[in-house]
Amino acid sequence: MVKFPEANVRLYKNVFVCRNCKTKIRTDNMKVLAKKVKCRKCNSKALRPVRKK
Ligand SMILES: [Zn+2]
Repeated sequence: MVKFPEANVRLYKNVFVCRNCKTKIRTDNMKVLAKKVKCRKCNSKALRPVRKK
């Protein structure tokens, strides 16, 4: 089977999960790295990429 990197990118790129309340946040990768993104629910800046276990 062939994997589709494009599909992974579409599903997971720029999607982050709040470490506090597990809310998914779609935002720009660079903004997360620059710590400009806060969770809209709990205002935490502790985000992780969605794929990481
Ligand atoms: Zn949160």
